[in-house]
Amino acid sequence: MSETDVYGLLIDGESVPAASGKTFTTYDPATEEPLAEVARGAEADIDRAVESGREAFEKWRTTPPEERGRLLTRLATAIQNDIDRLTELEVRDNGKPLSQARADVEGCARYFEYYAGIADKIHGDTIPLTHGYTDYTIHEPLGVTGQIIPWNFPINLVGRTTAPALAAGNVAVAKPAEETSLSALEVGKLAVDVGFPSGVLNVIPGFGAEAGAALASHPDVNGISFTGSVATGRQVAKLAADNVTPTHLELGGKSPNVVFPDADLDVALDETIKAIFGTNAGQVCSAGSRLLVHKEIHDVFVDELAKRTADLSIGPGSDDPNVGPLVSADQYEKVQKYVNIGRSEVGDPIVGGDAPHRNGYFIRPTIFDNVDNGMRIAQEEIFGPVLSVIEFENDDEAIELANDVDYGLVAGIFTTDVGRAHRFARDVDAGQVYVNEWFAGGVETPFGGYKQSGIGREKGLEAIESYTQVKNVCLKIDQ
Ligand code: ADP
Repeated sequence: MSETDVYGLLIDGESVPAASGKTFTTYDPATEEPLAEVARGAEADIDRAVESGREAFEKWRTTPPEERGRLLTRLATAIQNDIDRLTELEVRDNGKPLSQARADVEGCARYFEYYAGIADKIHGDTIPLTHGYTDYTIHEPLGVTGQIIPWNFPINLVGRTTAPALAAGNVAVAKPAEETSLSALEVGKLAVDVGFPSGVLNVIPGFGAEAGAALASHPDVNGISFTGSVATGRQVAKLAADNVTPTHLELGGKSPNVVFPDADLDVALDETIKAIFGTNAGQVCSAGSRLLVHKEIHDVFVDELAKRTADLSIGPGSDDPNVGPLVSADQYEKVQKYVNIGRSEVGDPIVGGDAPHRNGYFIRPTIFDNVDNGMRIAQEEIFGPVLSVIEFENDDEAIELANDVDYGLVAGIFTTDVGRAHRFARDVDAGQVYVNEWFAGGVETPFGGYKQSGIGREKGLEAIESYTQVKNVCLKIDQ
């Protein structure tokens, strides 16, 4: 860490220290070494950012939509042009493997590109009220919006949450996670560089209970987007409710990955690994953390899965392994705790369960077999490279098990029977269903949870609904 590695808050187009003068340290999870010092935003800084946003909003909302779109396009290009530096920064701050971090940066650029094209296509309807009237709707921005972002896809989620907000004419105050603040600040700086007016995109790093809570409870914030755990999502929604601030929540999951004997088992094996181990070390809300496998193929499938899992490479993100470190000491301890719970519930894992002897927050991909769906390792989100395998006998039981959790974010099925796939898609409680693959769906596909996995939808055209409010105008034209 050098003296230059001190990141300020981004308020009103300027990099500034926190009002308190305080900073906090962000660490490289592959080495546990300090990476940078970051200004520690809190209530007074959120106040400044919201005030700057409020002033910017009046001008931004009346900026011609095509001009807003052009600025978003410029930002997309700037992010794409800076991909090497942003990728390296993300790898060091979050720990994820290089190629995954690169895909996240590309995804961020793609969000700005996608929503740039939508900025001038947000319009309402005319409604055939009755003869003698003209009635129409206008989709207006909310105003100052707050984005509370987690640490698992830091740069990607900056794009996912702020791009639709800005395209629709809102201004944004983004609060990145304290573990991974750097890439959000870099995106904010690029926005200033490409010509976004000051105050349209503010970035306030800081701790959840300080900066996050101040943002969620701010009376002059008109919309909150939160991505993170269910427990924190509940707190955020309660804080926002005091001001009746609309909130959309993208929370956790315990998603079922269901494999039938008629599936292409080779594909199912590859995708199962990608779903829980090969993407951000399982630190993904849409991870396939419960494998429901049919009795007839259980032994052969799970044996081969264990072999392939044992072969996964594990190491610092800069080496581009299959599995990198977990993001922080806290997350490492949490996952270790669940590995111990798994041991007490079902015995030793069939693979993994230990941590390689090295610096950094590494945990080996771990599979528990013969898990009962009522166990804690089948019900609670672990958010790490830990898979629970559950056996089933028929379609009805598969659906029953798939739905028997508090979550409902995503679900996947592997089968070559088209009717079976559609029946599963119809009956499963999930906001997104994968058939014969896992995680497909880019910026264009709506994403969000059923049950305790959330409220509202991100991505695609649906996200624009979360960032606009509808005004109905009714005129009597025959007197
Ligand atoms: P995790 O528990 O996995 O670290 P969280 O859901 O707590 O994840 O964090 C997601 C985001 O929510 C982070 O930006 C964090 O700072 C923020 N956050 C945490 N606690 C609060 C809170 N009480 N109010 C608002 N934001 C919070």
